[in-house]
Amino acid sequence: ITFASLGLAEPLLRAVHDAGYTHPTPIQAQAIPRVLEGGDLLAAAQTGTGKTAGFTLPILHYLLSHPAAAQRPGRPRVLVLTPTRELTAQVEESVRLYGKHTAVRSMVMFGGVNINPQIAALKKPLDILVATPGRLLDHAQQKTLDLSGVEILVLDEADRMLDMGFIHDIRRVLKLLPAKRQNLLFSATFSDEIRGLAQGILRNPGEVSV
Ligand code: AMP
Repeated sequence: ITFASLGLAEPLLRAVHDAGYTHPTPIQAQAIPRVLEGGDLLAAAQTGTGKTAGFTLPILHYLLSHPAAAQRPGRPRVLVLTPTRELTAQVEESVRLYGKHTAVRSMVMFGGVNINPQIAALKKPLDILVATPGRLLDHAQQKTLDLSGVEILVLDEADRMLDMGFIHDIRRVLKLLPAKRQNLLFSATFSDEIRGLAQGILRNPGEVSV
């Protein structure tokens, strides 16, 4: 199996080639076709498996093949929630790496830093927002962020988000999203709590595990 046989757009294949990847990892081979189909996904995958490209590549493909009619500032089409500032940075770096031959725009958002540069950055159009839940809610409350255009939601390292006590924040974020959207949930472990969260969010998910 190759990245080309997964049907990814040419600018993405070039970026993957530039990164030196020869073959998709097992999580990528399983997750990418499912995400490209538009279905929900429940994925058991640890860090180091290549899970980030597993959701980033098909999401970039989606954005390339479904251009927005008119993009408004501060209104992302894709929301990736992660537990930590470090992880938001890593995920966004992947978005930039795999999206380097595209015009897809991304932004990171996390707490513990001055909110004003983030407010300024949100005045520009963006496609993919990678955020921690608390600061995301601050922006949503201040109306500096509009979540009504989110077409794809990713919960990355969902088990860590629950461990860190983000469940209430996640539920509040979910209420701000359109009902019709694609949902991808990645977790290293599968507790009853994760299964409960997944059941409330995912519709008919494809399950992959590595
Ligand atoms: P992740 O599990 O998403 O944190 O990725 C772990 C590491 O694997 C990252 O440093 C990626 O650059 C690398 N990686 C992702 N996909 C591939 C691939 N198909 N071939 C080789 N390395 C990869």
